[in-house]
Amino acid sequence: MSVQAIIDQIKTYHPKADISLVERAYKLAAKAHNGQKRLSGEDYISHPVEVAKTLAELKSDIPTICAGLLHDVPEDTNIPLSYIKKNFGNEIAFLVNGVSKLGKIKYRGEKRYIENLRKLFLSMCYDIRVVLVKLADRLHNMKTLSYLPKDKQYRIALETLEIYAPIADRLGIGTIKGHLEDLAFPYVYPKEYKRLINNVKEKYEDRENYINFIIPKIKQYLESEKVKILDIHGRAKHYFSLYKKLEKYEMNWDKIYDLIAIRIIVNDIPDCYKTLGLIHKNWKPLLGRIKDYIALPKPNGYRSLHTTVFCINGKITEFQIRTPQMHKEAEYGIAAHWAYTEAGKLSKDAYRNNNQLPWIKQLQKWQKEIKNSREFIKYLKIDFFKDRIFVFTPKGDVIDLPEEATPIDFAYHIHTDIGHKCAGAKVDGKLCSLSQSLKNGQVVEIITKKEKKPNPDWLRFAKTNYAKNRIKNWLRKNKN
Ligand code: MN
Repeated sequence: MSVQAIIDQIKTYHPKADISLVERAYKLAAKAHNGQKRLSGEDYISHPVEVAKTLAELKSDIPTICAGLLHDVPEDTNIPLSYIKKNFGNEIAFLVNGVSKLGKIKYRGEKRYIENLRKLFLSMCYDIRVVLVKLADRLHNMKTLSYLPKDKQYRIALETLEIYAPIADRLGIGTIKGHLEDLAFPYVYPKEYKRLINNVKEKYEDRENYINFIIPKIKQYLESEKVKILDIHGRAKHYFSLYKKLEKYEMNWDKIYDLIAIRIIVNDIPDCYKTLGLIHKNWKPLLGRIKDYIALPKPNGYRSLHTTVFCINGKITEFQIRTPQMHKEAEYGIAAHWAYTEAGKLSKDAYRNNNQLPWIKQLQKWQKEIKNSREFIKYLKIDFFKDRIFVFTPKGDVIDLPEEATPIDFAYHIHTDIGHKCAGAKVDGKLCSLSQSLKNGQVVEIITKKEKKPNPDWLRFAKTNYAKNRIKNWLRKNKN
């Protein structure tokens, strides 16, 4: 695998791209990682190249692809971030730095951490491209997981299922989500995986034969009714989502109608509904299985019409109907929104610009549209916490605090005694005042001294009630 494959891929969606930057990033990465090996025995450079290739498949812009190539350079080689900044500019250095920072988050497999970690991920990413690089990084690490020691395999696969795949899902990147889950599945649930694989083969073949038999007939029928079909194909369900669905239906295979669904791509929204109508006119739909995700998109932006009907020969079959744009969004999610325009330029304000991400705007719009969706409100609560920040202990644990919290809040959050004996704080390695507000992603270290006592002044800048109460209690008890 060379850089050429990445460049070829970029040319497919961005013919006028200035690829010299990509070539330079590749050269630097190759030089920096020279002599390093992956556990698979391959040269280390194969990893950043694969990451960049995934990013190119997501039609990422040039800085994101360069960040993919350089993402392990500052952490794992002698070349510092400052060098990248000097030679590739602020934007690429910013992305690389974001990826390194995310890499420091430690996963302990404890339930209470999981949601925080997901939140942390998204809240730390002022630029969502950082998450994309991290997802692409994880995807390749999962593909080469078999070379790692057993205990690590399980931990990394579990982390992938609990953190990375849900994030990919929330960002609507269906291809990465399904892929990550299927790669993690055999490591996290080996017995269940084996059982599923043994069962699925025959069933898939059965289903495939049937789908191949009916697709031409459906096509012919819809075209005779003047619907222009851009594409019609069978789409096999990913193994892990199949497993989850089977679990929900007590492993009853007869309840799985979308083992292979038929996907129909048509020109526009009216044609979507027309297609749905024609399918229903001919074959009876199953009650409760008609889903209009065009009028009511899923929280992650997924749009499509779904229906399940008693199809030819009475076989229960799921259809998914959508436009090319909806299809692109379902595959690439948030990445689809920064599609290059015809001219090959990125559409302006496609991303970045802190809180004005198009998908945040989109969410605000949905919020107005689907006020009653409980799922949506839950989503907002989880992901749009303007009022929380996430900081690290020096060991990499995540601490969740209210906005404008100070080192005093942090100290009391860790332990009451750490709070009481707090003598100073270091933020990102530098001494700082105890009244300074903390920011997302900072590493906070509390300096304690045995003889130190709580100071009434602290009440002025402690933000959490927890810290305030501890300070007040101590002051009350130690009044003399
Ligand atoms: Mn990496």
